[in-house]
This record gives sequence, structure tokens and C-alpha cells, in this order.
Amino acid sequence: MALLQISEPGQSPDPHQRRIAVGIDLGTTHSLVAAVRHGSAECLPDEQGRVILPSAVRYMVDERGQTRRQIGFEALAAQAEDSQNTIVSVKRFMGRRLADLPDAGRLPYQFEDQPGMVAVKTVAGVKSPVEVSAEILASLRQRAEDTFNDDLFGAVITVPAYFDDAQRQATKDAAQMAGLNVLRLLNEPTAAAIAYGLDNGAEGLYAIYDLGGGTFDISLLRLSRGVFEVVATGGDSALGGDDIDHLLADAALLDAKMETVTPQDKRTVLVAARRTKEKLSTDGSAHLSCALSGGMLSVKITRERLAELAKPLIDKSLASVKRVLLDAKVKPDEVKGVVMVGGSTRMPAVRDAVGAFFGQPPLTDLNPDEVVALGAAIQANQLAGNNAQGELLLLDVLPLSLGLETMGGLVERIIPRNTPIPCALAQDFTTFKDGQTALAVHVVQGEREQVEHCRSLARFELRGIPPMAAGAARIRVSFQVDADGLLSVSAKEQLSGVEASVVIKPSYGLTDEQVASMLREGFTTAAADMKDRALREARVEAERMLEATRTALAADGDLLSPEDRARIDGLMAQIGQRCDRGDIDALEASIKALADGTEAFAAERMNRSIRQALAGRKLDQV
Ligand code: ADP
Ligand code: MG
Repeated sequence: MALLQISEPGQSPDPHQRRIAVGIDLGTTHSLVAAVRHGSAECLPDEQGRVILPSAVRYMVDERGQTRRQIGFEALAAQAEDSQNTIVSVKRFMGRRLADLPDAGRLPYQFEDQPGMVAVKTVAGVKSPVEVSAEILASLRQRAEDTFNDDLFGAVITVPAYFDDAQRQATKDAAQMAGLNVLRLLNEPTAAAIAYGLDNGAEGLYAIYDLGGGTFDISLLRLSRGVFEVVATGGDSALGGDDIDHLLADAALLDAKMETVTPQDKRTVLVAARRTKEKLSTDGSAHLSCALSGGMLSVKITRERLAELAKPLIDKSLASVKRVLLDAKVKPDEVKGVVMVGGSTRMPAVRDAVGAFFGQPPLTDLNPDEVVALGAAIQANQLAGNNAQGELLLLDVLPLSLGLETMGGLVERIIPRNTPIPCALAQDFTTFKDGQTALAVHVVQGEREQVEHCRSLARFELRGIPPMAAGAARIRVSFQVDADGLLSVSAKEQLSGVEASVVIKPSYGLTDEQVASMLREGFTTAAADMKDRALREARVEAERMLEATRTALAADGDLLSPEDRARIDGLMAQIGQRCDRGDIDALEASIKALADGTEAFAAERMNRSIRQALAGRKLDQV
């Protein structure tokens, strides 16, 4: 994050013009919105005082054929009766194809495999996961705007650390559809670490243990110079509090000798089990009681009993933690701090087990449901330029340079990184060969000098350039980046006016970690790159010299004596040999030798062409 910061002293925003920026945890089961108010981050409640919004959207069509939708608690309540049209856990479908969802057959939805991403058929039409997520985001945006009675400047939205490009892009698209200005996407574990202020603390390794309702995620982060880097991630996409509910429900039914119950009864017991489990996080014992079709169920459960039941599941989570530490070659005692995220980390048994594993008590002061949203809010507030130091953090800069491939596989930087956007820059290029009528334009992103080390963004061709001598065409290539980070590149031949262009989303699809690593590579290899660049440039120059000499020989070779011709051929052959070797000095010397050795020949050619041009004309016509 710090990599993208630009501080502009003296430009700190007026406190009265504070920009409203929020953090949004777009979760699988719950979503939250938080903002920094009165100096600290807090989650914003709805009208009923609830901060959690169930991530559920129900699509309906009313009597008049109008499409309607319910979002959050209302939708969740209707889930059982209208499961086909009530979409829950949509996060699992973001940026995924049908083939990526192994359990799709067990879900109550009618999926439609669309190019790029699966969609769901509902009474109100086919809905993409992006649209469904946009409904949730729009609802949270509305909540924030109502709270502040003002428009939002922007939002930081969190995503799991393991989300790939397609999933991140889908999240951004959903935000845009919800009318949110995405300041950035932030990894969930990083957000949790920021909520605890770890970014201001000691450098080193931190573990984020996130046990939710249905999933377990473990992330190992490294803090250095105020920036978190994801070192490793792991977990289990089918392990969470729901599994503990099942174990507890089964145990209670067994105690009451009611092992065989109807599916409806089972659902009722599960709800009661969850309530009892949550109560046991604060109380030593509790009654699991509910009315079933065969009579009342009432069983006393102690905290110890629950801990015993949950132990195999907690151990399973610790096995994932071990694997991640092993992968990263890190010992548990090298971890400086452990952050607890997710509702299930409220269970004392979970806290104790994690504490014992790492040999230190985990951080639990903040509400584990809210910690991700709180961290996102803190970062959003900084990005909006509201932080106390008065320094303005601009995210609206290009994270990586944009450029073009030139001869020899080199990159010509057109817009350097950290240039504020929107921006537009142009540069003139020319043709390499005589009579060249097309130009291949290859747009790349990155800090390295060679094309193969940068990221290729797009290729297009400019065709229809009138045949001209090499170097005579004037091709203006313009780069324009708009406020949304959308890049358009156009190439125009100035004499003939022929033009070609493309539109690209440049930084999209790169994670912050990828950006950071591309930057790091760019810095550490700069010296090697410079040398390599010099060599490549010399080779391009050599090619150009050889090409020009060959053309000249073909046209006017008869001007040369056989000895001069042999000498020039020898110089050309020497360049050819030296091109293949890595000695820049030798190559440059032989280029100079050819330039010097053909000087007289060039003068002869000039004389001849002037004579030809003047032939048959009177002096006053010249
Ligand atoms: P997710 O990240 O999967 O959306 P959450 O982080 O909101 O889920 O966690 C939901 C889980 O946390 C549920 O299984 C719920 O029962 C559990 N949970 C919530 N509060 C408590 C509590 N006080 N004690 C134990 N478990 C809890
Ligand atoms: Mg969660």
C-alpha cells in the first residue's frame, strides 16, 4: 500500500471537507460496512441497530409483473420457502465457471454456465453473481449514505487473500455496479491486521486465523516497512462453526434417544444447537431445548462437553496451520502475533487451542465478526486523505509504468509509475525499414527494461502506412488513462492520418502483491537491466546500419571499386559476428568502423542522386 502513496505536503484536506470513505467486508454469509467516526473505526448499524447484513438476495415478481428483491434478513427468512430464488453464499460463485463448483449439483439453484462466470436463473431473470453482490453492496452503500447524510467518496472492499484475478475483477465490477468508487481491494487477513494496528508495530510475521461459519482460512503475513505481504495462505473450504452445530445437534439427539428425526426437525435442532453453542462462549453451561414433532428436546450441555465435541474440528484447523507454516518454512514461535477473525473464534476452546499452538495468547480484543470491516474502514479513511498527519494519500496513481515494445524486445516507458490519473501522454515513433506499411504496437506494464519481464496488456497493428524510407514515417502513439484506470492507446501516422487504437484495463487483474513484487524486481535488477538494454540497443543499431548499407549497396553498388566493396562486406560480416556475442564495446566499435568505412560511399551516392535530380532541368526550375 505504501508503494502507492504520494504525500503532498500542504495539501491536507480541510477538516470540514472530510471525505466519507467506508470499508466493506463482503462476506460469504454476512457483510458489514464500517467507517472511521470520531477518530475510531466502527461498524454502521441498520435502522434496527444490527450491524450484520446477511449476504442473501431474494428475487421476486409481484402481481403486476414487476421485479422486486429482498436483501439481508428478509431474504434469509424466505430462504427455506423460496430457495431457488434466494441466493446465499454468492461469494463462492464470483468469477467462477460451473466446472469450478464441484458441489453445484447439491445446491438449490438452476445454474447457467455463461462465458466467464456461472449465472443463476431466477423468476426475475438470469442473475450473475456480480449483480447479486452488487445488490448487497448497494444496500450497504445506502446504509452508509443514510448514516452520514452525504455521498460516499469511496470504499475499500475486502477479498480473501487467495482470490484470483477473475474473482477480484468480479468484486470490482460488482462495486462499480453498486455505484461505489473502489479505492482498492484489500485482502481480508491484511484488513484484520490493520484493525489491530499491527502495521504500526514490529516488523515480522503475523498469522491470521479465520474460522467462520463454513470456511477456515489461515494466512501468514509479513510486515516490512509498513506494508503487509501475504507469505502463504491455506485452510479448508468445508470447515467452520456449522460443522460444530451438526456435532452438537447429533450429540443432543443421541442423549435424548431421538436419533431418527425428520429433516425439518433436524433443521430445528441445528438452529437450537447454534444458539446453545454461542451461549457457551460466555456461560459455563446451557440448555439445548426446542420443540420437535415427537415432543420437546431439552438437554443440558456444558462448555467442556462442547469443547470435547469440537476438538477434532479444531485439530483439523491446526493441521492446516501447521501445513502453511511448513510450506513457508516458519516455526510457530517465529510468529510475532496471531489475530483471530470469524465468529467461531469466540469459542474459548478455539482460543485456547490456537494460543497453545503458537505459545502466545491470540489477539481477541476486537469483535471477530467486525475486525475485517474495521481494518478496511481504517484504510479507506487513509486513502481518502482524512488521516491525522494531514498527508494526502493518493491511490489514483498508476501502480506500474506503461510502455511499448520497441525494436530488440526493449520497453519504451510512456507513462511512468506513480503518475496521477487521469493522464495522457504521447510519443512519436518511426518505421524501421524502407517501405514498411504496418507497425505492430505492443502495450506492456512493468518496471523492467525487457518486454519478456513485463506484463503484456495488448497488441494491435497500425496498417496502411504509406511506403516511405525507414525513419520518415511519424507515428504518434498516445496513451490515455481515465479516472477509472481505463487505458486507451492509439497510434496515428501523422502524414497519412491512418489510425488504430485499443482500450485496456491496465492494473486490473494484478494483485497488490504482484504489483509489489514487480516493483521489487524492477529495482533489484535495474543495474543488470541497464547493461542488457545497452547491448540490445547496440544490436538494434547494428541491424539498422546493416539494413541501410545493404539497401545502399543494392541501389548504388556499382559506384564502388571491387576492393572497396570487399572492405565494406568485411566490415558488415564483422558486425554480424559481434552481434551474436555479448561484448558491447566490440560491437559498438565495429558499428563505428562500418559508419566510417562507408562515409565516402555515402558521399558518392549523394552526388549521384543530386545529379539525377538535376538532370534535364534548367537551373531556375531547381
Ligand atoms: P463467515 O465468515 O463464514 O461469513 P462468521 O465469521 O460470521 O462467518 O462466523 C459465523 C459463525 O460464527 C457461525 O458458525 C456462528 O455460529 C459462529 N459464532 C458467532 N458467534 C459465536 C459465539 N459467540 N460463539 C461461538 N460461535 C459463534
Ligand atoms: Mg468471514
